[in-house]
Amino acid sequence: MANLSPMMQQYFEIKKQYPGTLLFFRLGDFYEMFFDDAKTASRELELTLTGRDCGQEERAPMCGVPFHSAETYIARLVQKGYKVAICEQMEDPALAKGIVKRDIVRVITPGTVLESSMLDETKNNFICALDVRELVVGCCFADISTGELYGVQLEGEGLAGQAANELGRFSPKEILVNPDALDMKELPAFIKERLSASLELLEEENFEEARCTALVLEQFHKNSLGELRLEDKGSIVCAVGALLQYLKQTQRTGLERLNGIELYSGAQFMRLDLNARRNLELLETMRSKEKRGSLLWVLDQTKTAMGKRLIRSWIEQPLLSPAQISKRLNAVEELTRDLVLRDAISEQLMGVHDLERLMSRIVYGSANGRELRSLASALSRLPALKLAVQGSKSAYLSMIHENLDSLEEICELIERAIVEEPPFSVREGGMIQHGYSAELDLLKGDMSDGRGIVAQIEAREREKTGIPKLKVGYNRVFGYYIEVTNSYKEMVPQDYIRKQTLTNCERFITQELKELEGRILGAHDKSVQLEYTLFDEVRKTVAAQLARVQKTAAAVAQLDVLNAFAQVSVNQNYTRPIVNLEGKILIKDGRHPVVEKLLESPFVPNDVTLDRGENRVAIITGPNMAGKSTYMRQTALIVIMAQIGCFVPASYAEIGITDSVFTRVGASDDLAGGQSTFMVEMSEVADIIKNATSDSLLILDEIGRGTSTFDGMSIARAVLEYVAGKQLGAKALFATHYHELTVLEDLVDGVKNYNIVVKKRGDDITFLRKIVRGSADDSFGIEVAKLAGIPDRVVSRAKQILSELENGQAVTMPKSRGRKKTGEQEPMQISLTPPGEKEALERLRTMDVNTLTPIECMNTLFELCKLAGQP
Ligand code: ATP
Repeated sequence: MANLSPMMQQYFEIKKQYPGTLLFFRLGDFYEMFFDDAKTASRELELTLTGRDCGQEERAPMCGVPFHSAETYIARLVQKGYKVAICEQMEDPALAKGIVKRDIVRVITPGTVLESSMLDETKNNFICALDVRELVVGCCFADISTGELYGVQLEGEGLAGQAANELGRFSPKEILVNPDALDMKELPAFIKERLSASLELLEEENFEEARCTALVLEQFHKNSLGELRLEDKGSIVCAVGALLQYLKQTQRTGLERLNGIELYSGAQFMRLDLNARRNLELLETMRSKEKRGSLLWVLDQTKTAMGKRLIRSWIEQPLLSPAQISKRLNAVEELTRDLVLRDAISEQLMGVHDLERLMSRIVYGSANGRELRSLASALSRLPALKLAVQGSKSAYLSMIHENLDSLEEICELIERAIVEEPPFSVREGGMIQHGYSAELDLLKGDMSDGRGIVAQIEAREREKTGIPKLKVGYNRVFGYYIEVTNSYKEMVPQDYIRKQTLTNCERFITQELKELEGRILGAHDKSVQLEYTLFDEVRKTVAAQLARVQKTAAAVAQLDVLNAFAQVSVNQNYTRPIVNLEGKILIKDGRHPVVEKLLESPFVPNDVTLDRGENRVAIITGPNMAGKSTYMRQTALIVIMAQIGCFVPASYAEIGITDSVFTRVGASDDLAGGQSTFMVEMSEVADIIKNATSDSLLILDEIGRGTSTFDGMSIARAVLEYVAGKQLGAKALFATHYHELTVLEDLVDGVKNYNIVVKKRGDDITFLRKIVRGSADDSFGIEVAKLAGIPDRVVSRAKQILSELENGQAVTMPKSRGRKKTGEQEPMQISLTPPGEKEALERLRTMDVNTLTPIECMNTLFELCKLAGQP
């Protein structure tokens, strides 16, 4: 350390304070990285690694990026989970005495990104803090780019599972935890395997209650926790406190954007665990993780970034209160009935930029002139939007009308102060409108007067010296100068001072020009400085209106989502569901909202009857591919759509409030934990059984498939009996290939058999996609295998084996006749080949179809079918 150069000593001083970050150290026009940081950055960003003398024998490894394009490099690092500390020069290097003062201005982490280029405008970017204690877990989720902050306290059974659900709901990018969280063994594993979030372990002292309480009260300007309804929610206080400390350390600038905390309880929303969210493809498809093919894809007709974020959160959080659901449905219904209103709202929304994130940048002092102008252009839409919803009848739309503040004076201020197309930089002037500040206009007048005088000097000097091509020019090095070409060199007056000789001309300065230059440049510097001051004042005035803009932004987002629901409902011919508390789910002509949009052929609608009495559990049999999964998922989706306040794809729907939807569908995609498919299946079933209630809806697809037939069937039956029985009594759709289970209809109360009809003709089957009462007679597995392209001889062999099994015989091996000369294997011996098949083939070979009458054709066909073994 002793030998290090002074700049390197400064580097290490700063680096020491920010362990675990990549330090971007500002050196002139570059951000440089040194030592291990340089090695990491050069590897991750494919930058050339160089070296720099640092006062020691070996050169320090170094790499760098230009400051003006640093954002893209930082974005790549943050996306990979790194934390980047930005160290700026805190004084003008030209004026600095000794080493330039430097300091960290911000640490950018995955959960604290503010730059629009690093954010997806359709998604929130949450950071979360968890305070895990023995009997309670405090969680908070903040999006500092929008100012949202949510808190929940989890208690009771299965804390790790509950915490995992909350994490699944918000999908945070960064999770801060106390040391006890690591002891809750399922939780770190869940975070690692199921979420793409970086996990940050904070010291226990960050969660210390007294310290956190003080921080929370200070942040929200309150005197007691009671004012925040946090008096008995110590764990939330600790989680929020720890989060605030982390944000203060990393953000440095004020966190006034977080100006309130919204508390919620698990009991407010339908419980949907990560499996259900994924299996039902609410926001993205399971395989390709794309929006196309998800429920969000169908419903998202929103026009604004705020609406896009809100619709995600509504889909992820179906409501439980019939009153709240009806409030949304009433608004959607009013909008479905009024095409003109819908169009007027859409048109205005189209021009509303992201008020929430623009406002954050304004509050954090990082917004430039263009962003203020964007805000103004968004605000200019508000009066028309407010007018459009004026006179709405539904309570929700009236409330939106009330909350929409048209913020005209803010819009007017920005339009008056900032030019229409301001430059990107806020430090180079050119932002403030003429007429906004008399002082600025005077300075600008001086500048342009000065330039006028320069022109006058040029004309005067030409005349005085008689040099026709004499020019007054300007460059950064010499300032203003007089240029004379070599041919007139002799005519230059005595008082010109020579400054530069070029190939074909000479450049001079005069005392007069120097003085003028001082005036012009002085005015320029002053005006740039004044422009920044004025701009900053406008920015601060707008920032002071945060609460009003926030309230308006929320109203815009809600209106956008309700309008989108109405638009989809009209386009897709959805129906308003009737929400009830009797636990009855009655759907007529239900459709799968996604499959019906993707199918080219018509979708076949189906009915659903589930209730707390005779129809608790539906056992669904039918061949593979018949449509069992589609039917079960569509039922879950219709329930979810109803509870988020949207119309549903059906001709009629009564939806009993469902407290949770659980799914056990197909093989789980993530076996990263090293568990077998069957193990995963069973632990998911265990989880469902533990957490479901009589108001839950269970989608159970082929339980027990992953093990031997008898084991599987026994497990499936035991689960079914439990679900339908008194212990649980949940509503369930249970698809199975174990036809033996259909006897339960007669043995267990509340169980009903259904099957999906297929039509069989010979070896071929046609899927009718219609669900009917009763059990299927056959699995048609072999026929479906044939449809899927399994070679004929394998299909025939499968039939032979099936027939032997059905007759209780041992399966015989096909007879082998050795190998053909070519090395190809003989076709398998099919013991059950109908004896007439050969004869039928022979007749077909010799038949002359042209000589047959239609009647003869018919008769021959019948004979052939008979010979081929058709009954
Ligand atoms: P498996 O048992 O092999 O999982 P399944 O019975 O669950 O099969 P699904 O996956 O639900 O069958 O359906 C297969 C395909 O049939 C779907 O991808 C869809 O294209 C089509 N389908 C399902 N239901 C309908 C319907 N009601 N109307 C039209 N097409 C449908």
